[in-house]
Amino acid sequence: MLKFVADAMLGNLARWLRILGYDTVYSKNISDKEILEYATKEGRIVLTRDYGLYRRARKNNLKAVYFETSEIDEMLTVLARKYNISLEIDPNKTRCPICNGDLRKVQRKEVEGKVPDIVLKEHNDFWICSKCGKIYWKGTHWITMEKILSKVRGKVSRGENSYDFT
Ligand SMILES: [Zn+2]
Repeated sequence: MLKFVADAMLGNLARWLRILGYDTVYSKNISDKEILEYATKEGRIVLTRDYGLYRRARKNNLKAVYFETSEIDEMLTVLARKYNISLEIDPNKTRCPICNGDLRKVQRKEVEGKVPDIVLKEHNDFWICSKCGKIYWKGTHWITMEKILSKVRGKVSRGENSYDFT
């Protein structure tokens, strides 16, 4: 399974990768030095919008991807091409977008009183983060994400490529 470390500008991409099941280190305050250490020690792929950091990572023989854009569909397309990342949300593999923790499926009664009644009424499947305790269900955000992923799958299969830094 691929593992990533994202620079401070790539919070959105980090959340997406976690949802897609990829262990991704991200923090708003992460330094370049820490990013390179994570990549070296844990075999993580560096994701960055900073060309200087990208060059440093490559000089150290680390795997790295430089993004010229912050459009999420473009970034996912690049990663799908380069590393063949999964573009399907599998709730059994998804990690917590907030903290990168593992999610576990829970019974409805476990989330009673912890989510709005309307949500409880309309959903049967819930997941809870083993680390931060946040509760997830397939709400409107999920549907929006599925639409974006379907767009990305289309781009990848059509072979559209706006740019490719390797
Ligand atoms: Zn969490």
